[in-house]
Amino acid sequence: MAEFRLEVDKMFLEKMNYLDVEKYLKTRDTVVIPVGSIENHGKHMPLGTDTMIPHRIAELYSAMSDTVIAPTVNYGATADIVGFPGTISLGVEGLRALLERICDQLYDYGFRHFIILNGHGGNSKSITEVGHHLYAKGAILANLNWWLIAGELRPEWKGGHGGGEETAAVMGIDPALIHTEYLEEGEGIRNDVSNELPSASWMDVNFKGGSVTIPRPIRSITDNGWLTHGMSIDPPTKATQAWGVEMLNTMAEYMRDFTVAFDKVALSKIK
Ligand SMILES: [Zn+2]
Repeated sequence: MAEFRLEVDKMFLEKMNYLDVEKYLKTRDTVVIPVGSIENHGKHMPLGTDTMIPHRIAELYSAMSDTVIAPTVNYGATADIVGFPGTISLGVEGLRALLERICDQLYDYGFRHFIILNGHGGNSKSITEVGHHLYAKGAILANLNWWLIAGELRPEWKGGHGGGEETAAVMGIDPALIHTEYLEEGEGIRNDVSNELPSASWMDVNFKGGSVTIPRPIRSITDNGWLTHGMSIDPPTKATQAWGVEMLNTMAEYMRDFTVAFDKVALSKIK
């Protein structure tokens, strides 16, 4: 396979011209699409947390891989968090329709291996549906949920919405984006559904040792809009810039290695 490589930042689709894309497609058919969300992450973090992190990982990745990176999708599916001003949700169906349209057009030009770099758990349903849609057309999609993989690679990094893991990642991009005066505040008031059904995490309540999901907006669960895996496990106070920088780089390297393996998947052999 002939080498194809532009200057690093030119692997971003918006910086290429159509001739660059044509040339790329002669030897590769892989594309990365970062997908984020704009949503409340508590008082200490910016609304664009879930978008900025995958976008930054993609920037670092662009220095390590010669794979085309499509523009970051800045909106996601985040129905639970609507109600905190600034949170905007496309809904599961809206994100699915948007992503499917983007992928279908890339498919028409010849792209067949799609890597989604996802920054928000609520997007997964839409991404999975698009993956099935592409598979039926003879293409393949991989969804990399960066925060889950980071926690699997290093258990001490494991975290959740608005906790230490995400706070560190944002610090690794720009520490000025974190409102440190709110770091100590904690998860806010956790509202139970009733005395017998105490809030466990997100929408789950605990009943006699089992977790039961009762869908309701996060505003009715916590008054400041973020919940983590428990303050003792993933407190934002333990986040550091050094942790964030190392984690973002580790994720970029992981994605670089994944791309090499994913590129080799021969689509004609998939059943
Ligand atoms: Zn997040």
